[in-house]
Amino acid sequence: MRKTTALLVALLLLGAPASRAQRPASSPTRSHVEFLASDRLEGREAGSPGERLAADYLTAQLARIGARPLPGRADMFMPFEFTAGSRDGGSTVTVTAGAAPARAFSAPRDVRALSFSDDTDLSGPVVFAGYGLVVPESQNVGYDSYAALDVKDKIVVVLRYFPEDADQKLRAVLARYSDLRYKAMAARQRGARALLVVTGPRSPNAGELVPMSFDTALAGSGIPAASVTGAVADALFAAGVGSQRDPTSQRSPDGPPSRTLRDVQQELDSGNPHVAGFDLPGITLALRTSVVRERHTGRNVLAYLPGSAPVATDRPWVVIGAHYDHLGHGDKGTSLASKEEAGGIHHGADDNASGAAAVLAVAETLARSTGPRRRHIAIAFWSAEEIGLIGSNAFVTNPPMPIDRLAAYLNFDMVGRMQDNRLIVQATGTSPIWARLLERANVAAGFDLAVQPDPYQPSDVASFNQAGVPSVMFFTGSHPDYHKPSDTADKINYDDLDRVASLAASLVGSVANLAEAPPFTKVDQPVSRGSMAGVRVTTGTIPDYATEVKGLLLSGVIGGGPAEQAGLMKGDVIVEIAGQTIANIYDYTYALELLRVNQPVTVVYTRGGQRRETQLTPGARR
Ligand SMILES: [Zn+2]
Ligand SMILES: [Zn+2]
Repeated sequence: MRKTTALLVALLLLGAPASRAQRPASSPTRSHVEFLASDRLEGREAGSPGERLAADYLTAQLARIGARPLPGRADMFMPFEFTAGSRDGGSTVTVTAGAAPARAFSAPRDVRALSFSDDTDLSGPVVFAGYGLVVPESQNVGYDSYAALDVKDKIVVVLRYFPEDADQKLRAVLARYSDLRYKAMAARQRGARALLVVTGPRSPNAGELVPMSFDTALAGSGIPAASVTGAVADALFAAGVGSQRDPTSQRSPDGPPSRTLRDVQQELDSGNPHVAGFDLPGITLALRTSVVRERHTGRNVLAYLPGSAPVATDRPWVVIGAHYDHLGHGDKGTSLASKEEAGGIHHGADDNASGAAAVLAVAETLARSTGPRRRHIAIAFWSAEEIGLIGSNAFVTNPPMPIDRLAAYLNFDMVGRMQDNRLIVQATGTSPIWARLLERANVAAGFDLAVQPDPYQPSDVASFNQAGVPSVMFFTGSHPDYHKPSDTADKINYDDLDRVASLAASLVGSVANLAEAPPFTKVDQPVSRGSMAGVRVTTGTIPDYATEVKGLLLSGVIGGGPAEQAGLMKGDVIVEIAGQTIANIYDYTYALELLRVNQPVTVVYTRGGQRRETQLTPGARR
């Protein structure tokens, strides 16, 4: 604290605004970022050797600062187990049609288990259930692929995605229920023994296998499920396909197929809910599915600075934290690397070496301050954030101290690329105290604060918000290097990163000394959220999640992607796409569900206050 005050006094004497502060002799955050984002740590993927090196570094720094292992613990590591991905373990499909010789197909060429599949070895009759979509009655749509179908004890074959030609409104609803997990659940609930997924000839990625999606589930979802290629579909439908609407179709046992899968899909694609599925008579299918789930151990790092006597009895812990893991070489999950950069080390300097460095700097400032501190400061570095907030979830699920002893959680995620003095503070809706405390702490710091109440962000704050802990998160905005190898230490704005850490140190100090712990406010979750599950296209845009503007502000575009080809660039605000008005990121996600691959749409956007228009042609999302 003393340091901050001294700096403030110096600034007042100089009459200089804080943002133009004289550069300190050395930045307290720079060396941390440079080490964590170095090639040696290889992108700090959870469970990897690079993650371990990073954790070792963080514990060494914590020890240097004078922080201790949490009470009752011998060291600062808190390991947790997680599934780091899955691969097919040799799935096979054998199709027997009447007296014809059986046709065998296998992974990796023609069969691939879905990541959430149960392992099985079974055989049985086959039923085709169209798109396998069931829309809950509450949606008032009346679409149920199983309405006139008995699938009990049968192997169900469904098409991936949802009807291609349905009107926009229906597509929007159906898209929500087209996630393969949801389709598998619907089949399981109706007594199906297994689910096979075919990407129809009229769909994007026609005939291709479904990629093994990154899935952190520890076990299967209660039903064997696999995708098969168009070749397998051809074998299944070779005898010709009937239709329940037309059970006496003119199909003769020897004649050519009366209708192909393409014909059937075309009929289904109208979205007419009365187009039903049908049995595949005479077909027996033997299915073997095997998913190998890779178990790994990740490590959270936790330490604390003890409060000074008398320690508050009302929620005596304040937690500061940042995730320190990143994407490794980017082969799992959410890399945005271009083709040329693919497989490179994702350095994660801003995401989130910057946050880890800020936490260390805050801890160091607090450790050196001599004033009273009525609450303990827990210092946390989470792993496996990038693959689903797993580290912070492990903490709140299995907390080392009762969770109702936590007064507040302060999170730092991407705080190293500040522009124009703008600091975004999210999740402030979780307690009424944040506005006042932030305003006070900012008097010395002088940031242009952008305060956002919503705690439902994809960050570690979500874990604490869910656990009822008042939380805030610091963020300096997205940028074109986000989740790419090019997020490197040389691009970090260290002066401003240090300023963020000193504002946060002052805020943490205030929370620690509050007579009464901050009350928690539950923020209502917005209802009309789009979900990426139904999105099948990519537009190559990088949304700026931080700025509140009407429309979708782009923080960049992906090189060579559809948006770049359409002439869009950083700073543009999309206000309309394919006739849908875009007010926010949720509208945008929703609108994406309605787009179709290779079908150009009109995008209306503003640039420099001027309204413009362009044509954008979406590409296929894998
Ligand atoms: Zn992050
Ligand atoms: Zn990230």
